[in-house]
Amino acid sequence: MSARNVNFNPGPAALPLEVLKTVQSELLDYHGTGLSVLESSHRSKEFEAINDATIALVRELFGLSDDYHVLFLGAGASTQFALIPMNFVGEGQTAAYVDTGSFANKAMKECQAVSKVHVAFSSKEEKYRRMPSMSDIKYPQDAAYLHICTNNTIEGTQFWQFPDTGTVPLVADMSSDIASRQLDYKKFSLFYAGAQKNLGPAGVTLVVIRDDFLSTARKDLPGMLTYKIHSDNKSLYNTPPVFAVYMMKLVLEWIKSKDGLAGVEKLNEAKKNLLYGAIDAASDFYQGAAEKDSRSWMNVTMRLPNEDLEAKFIADGKKEGFVGMKGHRSVGGIRMSIYNAVSLEDIQKTVDFMERFRKSA
Ligand SMILES: *Cc1c(COP(=O)(O)O)cnc(C)c1O
Repeated sequence: MSARNVNFNPGPAALPLEVLKTVQSELLDYHGTGLSVLESSHRSKEFEAINDATIALVRELFGLSDDYHVLFLGAGASTQFALIPMNFVGEGQTAAYVDTGSFANKAMKECQAVSKVHVAFSSKEEKYRRMPSMSDIKYPQDAAYLHICTNNTIEGTQFWQFPDTGTVPLVADMSSDIASRQLDYKKFSLFYAGAQKNLGPAGVTLVVIRDDFLSTARKDLPGMLTYKIHSDNKSLYNTPPVFAVYMMKLVLEWIKSKDGLAGVEKLNEAKKNLLYGAIDAASDFYQGAAEKDSRSWMNVTMRLPNEDLEAKFIADGKKEGFVGMKGHRSVGGIRMSIYNAVSLEDIQKTVDFMERFRKSA
């Protein structure tokens, strides 16, 4: 096998090598069943055990009580952009959105297609380079919910404080920073994340809904669009993405083996300190794209003095085994996505490369 690359892909993204090895060893015969999980029934007792264990791991790692429903759905985080307003915005009601990046904006646009939106904050005019202070966020007290995106994957900014919304339910897209840090997950009435950044492969989306909020959801939509139906059926209303759920279980077990979210957060803090430290120490050459106090620990965005140098940085990096460093096509520049599975050693190699590249440029 050739050496594995340092994987900065924004999603689908790096997976822990230990998890991939377990998958490999169990692929042809899952726990003596003589079958692969890929070819097992979602109604089998083996899959039911996987489903139950994954739900339990989500509750345990995120510190959630039994009144949180844990769902594994297909169709991606982007489908939740539409399902959330469909399920939770009543006749004549308005939903409030914090517009801090491309995905936050997409979520808001999807809500506009089905109901009224109140823009609680937007940094769009500032090219999404900064996060709001809590007093910047303004919304009506009768809003159906307040929606935020906790980490802006494309721009490289992240929430570190969360609004106290009182009786207004707080809803969050956590696709790109879920399970990367300790957080009071109980603050949220609903949170969701596509698995392909920090939880596993593409194909499953984690949706967690507190019971008091779920009880207000509509029940008269088509089955596949109704959260209550997925919850009542423990995500087995139709065929769930069984292999992706199985891999999410392995990733959550891996997180648990790292001392849970506290351990993972410590590692992520060391990683981002090393990488942003290298950027700031050479600020005449590398420039952080986001404002310093808004920086993401997961997606590190930066610019070089010109686009030719950026292209050379990406090409030279690729030759040395760093992949996925190109910024999103909408913003350009460099983005290094340093999710949980990217190691501190990977970052050390990266800052060494950055130093060599700067000197040779
Ligand atoms: C990747 C991402 C999405 C899109 O997820 P899909 O599963 O592709 O629909 C949504 N929100 C955020 C914050 C993301 O990073």
